[in-house]
Amino acid sequence: MATMLIDGQTVGAQTGKTIEVRNPANGEIVDTIPKGSASEVDAAVEAAAKALPAWASLSGTKRAAFIEATRVAENLEFFAGFADKLRGDYVPLEDQNKFGLTMRRPVGVVVAITPWNFPLTLMANKVCPALAAGCTVVLKPASTTPLATQKTIEIINSVGIPAGVLNTVHGPGAEIGDALVSHPKVNKIAFTGQTETGKRIMKLAAENVTRVTLELGGSDPMIVCDDADIRRATAATAIGRFFNAGQACLAVKRVYLFEQIAEEFMTKIADRARKEWPVGDGLKEGVKMGPLHTERQRAEVESQVADAVKRGAKVLAGGKRPEGKEFEKGWYMEATVLRDVPEDSRMATEEVFGPALPIFIVKDLDDAIAKANASVYGLGSSIWTKDLAKARKAAELLEAGYTWINDIQVAYDQLPFGGTKQSGFGKEHGIEGLDGYLEKKSVVLAY
Ligand code: NAD
Repeated sequence: MATMLIDGQTVGAQTGKTIEVRNPANGEIVDTIPKGSASEVDAAVEAAAKALPAWASLSGTKRAAFIEATRVAENLEFFAGFADKLRGDYVPLEDQNKFGLTMRRPVGVVVAITPWNFPLTLMANKVCPALAAGCTVVLKPASTTPLATQKTIEIINSVGIPAGVLNTVHGPGAEIGDALVSHPKVNKIAFTGQTETGKRIMKLAAENVTRVTLELGGSDPMIVCDDADIRRATAATAIGRFFNAGQACLAVKRVYLFEQIAEEFMTKIADRARKEWPVGDGLKEGVKMGPLHTERQRAEVESQVADAVKRGAKVLAGGKRPEGKEFEKGWYMEATVLRDVPEDSRMATEEVFGPALPIFIVKDLDDAIAKANASVYGLGSSIWTKDLAKARKAAELLEAGYTWINDIQVAYDQLPFGGTKQSGFGKEHGIEGLDGYLEKKSVVLAY
């Protein structure tokens, strides 16, 4: 059985309760984890609070050495490099015998809450800058995918990070989430997950004025202009929608085609969906798309597709579960493409977190941008064109934290990443990724 990490010790739940972690390809139990309760949340936050003063005052060079030693991810390396380069400013003041300084101090105890779809990357996006900044951390991964996260945290911790600096607590968000978010000793919540959960966290955090960064849902639009390279655009669309069985925050979730290239594009993307995305157990040779995460997740995507079809959309590829004995126990769905999708259907207005792509046709760039922006979300976006004027207009006007031009959804460590509108706020990655973990403090020195 996996464990939690609290105050340097790997521990089970005091209640003895556990959660089963299942393989979505066949429903088999992979392992179990302890089911934490409010008392473990309290122990972990207390440990992080106790460890904070020493960790925060350790020199950046020493903090960097701890983080660097693990080398489990580029993210660790990126932020470890910053730990000894954090600095403030000298500011002249109007008073002759005084001057000002700004310092950057760690915000304190950080609660990091992560979803199931990229458990390690999204953990690293929070834990690495937090530790580099001198914060201590209580991490709660999703209870369906906690195993790789727990192992990685134990490896990071094993380089000798002082007890209490890095802690994990496991349990369903609905049960221990409130205890974590409302704990009075927590100074910051770094959350990635659904918009609805983010709204709840933001409300609860307001009670103690705990700062939050929220990386939430998205419904990224892709605009394909009449001068686009259709072969490259369709290849990118297929990866953008079917990678990780469509369960990615940054993904091609709505496609807006100029009329002139619409038929050619739709024929090609449907062809790719049918031929290039064989479904099956992700551990098997030749499989390109694995199952969805849970039965509920598949049912949600299926109902979004059914809603579009009921309102007149046509299925160009997929649209159903694959048939055969090997698919009976997993949450599989074929790579799906739909055209004539109504703009008020669920596929257009909600986040589709699975391998189903709605296609819309637009008159021109203004029409495309208006429709792309007619979403509560604003995470990623992309445009395919050879015309720099069109590309620039899209980059300026698309309401999103990222716009790719003739490319899609790869988020670079060097560039700040984060949403606008109901996709959240606050940046991960880039130098800006540290800002959420540092407080800028002003100091006046009189002499
Ligand atoms: P989720 O909101 O259901 O859960 C995310 C985490 O929050 C889990 O650890 C969960 O246990 C916890 N949680 C649930 N309820 C809670 C509560 N009341 N208080 C505190 N914690 C609680 O999200 P999910 O289904 O695991 O993840 C998928 C969603 O995440 C999608 O909407 C996706 O777009 C989004 N996402 C966003 C990004 C991004 O960077 N913007 C990245 C990946 C995923």
